[in-house]
Amino acid sequence: MVMIHKVLVANRGEIAIRIFHTLREMGIRSVAVYTEVDGRSLHVRTADESSRVENYLDTREILRAAAETGADAIHPGYGFLSENAAFAEACEQAKLTFIGPRPQTIRRMGDKLESKRVMKDAGVPVVPTWDAEPPANAYPVLVKAVGGGGGKGMRLVEHPRDLNEAKAAASREAAKAFNDDRVFVEKYISNPRHIEFQVFGDTLGSVIHVFERECSIQRRHQKIIEETPSPAVSPDLRAKMGEAAVAAARAVGYVGAGTVEFILSPDGQFYFLEMNTRLQVEHPVTEMTTGLDLVREQVLVANGQPLSIKQTDVRQSGHSLECRIYAEVPEENFRPDTGSIAVYRPPTGPGIRLDSGVEQDSEVGFHYDPMLAKLIVWAPTRDASIERMQRALSEFVLLGVRNNIEFLHRVVSHADFKAGKIDTHFLEHHAELRKPTTTEIPVEALLAASLTSSDSRGHRGTNGADQTFDDVWQSGAWRNA
Ligand code: ADP
Repeated sequence: MVMIHKVLVANRGEIAIRIFHTLREMGIRSVAVYTEVDGRSLHVRTADESSRVENYLDTREILRAAAETGADAIHPGYGFLSENAAFAEACEQAKLTFIGPRPQTIRRMGDKLESKRVMKDAGVPVVPTWDAEPPANAYPVLVKAVGGGGGKGMRLVEHPRDLNEAKAAASREAAKAFNDDRVFVEKYISNPRHIEFQVFGDTLGSVIHVFERECSIQRRHQKIIEETPSPAVSPDLRAKMGEAAVAAARAVGYVGAGTVEFILSPDGQFYFLEMNTRLQVEHPVTEMTTGLDLVREQVLVANGQPLSIKQTDVRQSGHSLECRIYAEVPEENFRPDTGSIAVYRPPTGPGIRLDSGVEQDSEVGFHYDPMLAKLIVWAPTRDASIERMQRALSEFVLLGVRNNIEFLHRVVSHADFKAGKIDTHFLEHHAELRKPTTTEIPVEALLAASLTSSDSRGHRGTNGADQTFDDVWQSGAWRNA
């Protein structure tokens, strides 16, 4: 049996830190890698050791760092090299344990057409798909890139006359982004919900699912709020979808943590969308409601050990909600922002978990994804979970970089969100949520107040002339009404 003693995490930010925490609990040493601009980042100081690389995507550099530090395994996190079959192979060749599925599984599932063929054969419902021309009554349709990801290379086509042009444009975009210009056509499902299942397989042949996550709140096809259980999934539907997810994982002999993504149509039909062969950003909501540590399970499986739990023992209790905290400006079409975090006071208290990649004085640059942290809550019911998230978001002080905290607060406070009436178009249909309410104090005003000294107290504050940041904070006046 392989025995993992030291793991290099080929990633940065909150996910690297999240993985270091579990490694420390398991008594496994950790190695961080960092690029020049990340030299002072929090993840570097959280690991036991660190090694500088030119680029997080450079396989040779990562393998060199592993050799130099004596790591015997590599955890890729999400993004970067996590779904790169060639990287997983290179790890194997270098006698390093890749903490993830087999290279051939990554390769097959990374091809949207191949993965659909496999799922169809396994009896999993897939969205109707055409290589060439769909019938006229199939419209509207989506043109998608075979190698796609992150919503890139996707185009909605309402009318047959626009198909060829859309395919050509998607193909050009795909060639640039994925080095693969193949595209295909898929039926467009109106007003769907995004429901995914966490699956897990071990090398001894056990495959389980650990329930669903609903990720319908998206901007630009990217998730920003996730929850489990989904308010749209009945026990009966959960059983059916869970069975399909396990069948999907079994069909490819899945080993490790994976996610089977479905779209759920308003008529209750669900369809396989794709399989992500890695740990998901939103995995904490599953951990909060099941008590499992998914990174620990990943390490066990990579070590050749059985999963710690059987399907019949997996239980879910209560409800969990996650909000992704981004350095971005929702009012300006979610453009990313950069700067130095002048004040960082995350919420604490019952039922709160923060997976953060930053701290006070961290620099937020333009080199990497602007996600700063994930705020996760747990409560016995969905209603209580939403109340807790509202409380947590309103206590979260993050100054110096513009961010989406107030926007998230408006979203979780919306009557339709509270009622569970959501689909993947929620944010487009509620564009008003992007505008601040008049009672909100601009971040710049708070920042000015927080930075003023006694001789120039708070003259830029909108809440009265003589207020320091602490006055404003204590009064609670900056919160959403
Ligand atoms: P990517 O791999 O680029 O992320 P996905 O296939 O996972 O693309 O789809 C991303 C999102 O796009 C989904 O969560 C959903 O909101 C939307 N979407 C994808 N396929 C369809 C479809 N056939 N009908 C309606 N919406 C879709």
